[in-house]
Amino acid sequence: SNSNIKMAEAPEGFVGEGFFATKLNDVVGLARANSLWPLPFATSCCGIEFMATMGAHYDIARFGSERLSFSPRQSDMLLVMGTISKKMAPVLRQVYEQMSEPKWVIAVGACASSGGIFDTYSVLQGIDKVIPVDVYVPGCPPRPEQILEGVMKLQELVKSESVRRRSSPEYEALLASYNIK
Ligand code: SF4
Repeated sequence: SNSNIKMAEAPEGFVGEGFFATKLNDVVGLARANSLWPLPFATSCCGIEFMATMGAHYDIARFGSERLSFSPRQSDMLLVMGTISKKMAPVLRQVYEQMSEPKWVIAVGACASSGGIFDTYSVLQGIDKVIPVDVYVPGCPPRPEQILEGVMKLQELVKSESVRRRSSPEYEALLASYNIK
């Protein structure tokens, strides 16, 4: 019976017999963080590492993310993997805009994060020139463990994020500032 639990030993949020309280933000954050549905935007070699990440050995299903979607409207975690040319940038931007809120972005590997070794006129020097990025995963390419660590870092962000943050005026201003000409 709950009456056997002394208040001093009770878990956080326990305030009486048969009653448990927590914050809406925490419940929503927990649900979102453990059901992130990836949209793999793979253009080159880093995408191959993601294929390994999805396999049985590394098993991204352990994090609730085995349900891939190639429809932006049915995914909330955009994983950009590979070299993004400047001609591809508006497409990436459009895919991002087609995703519903709330949505998050991981730049997987050096090319997506900064252009990588391709410091040249035709390559976007980091996807954060056109869309906001939540987590950067280093490496050329990153191993599957690193990609999973990126997902886990994102889970922490998602858990601690207010349910209202994404519709704030500051966030809208940030989005507007990323418009590509
Ligand atoms: Fe390929 Fe390296 Fe660029 Fe990944 S970071 S897409 S492995 S060149």
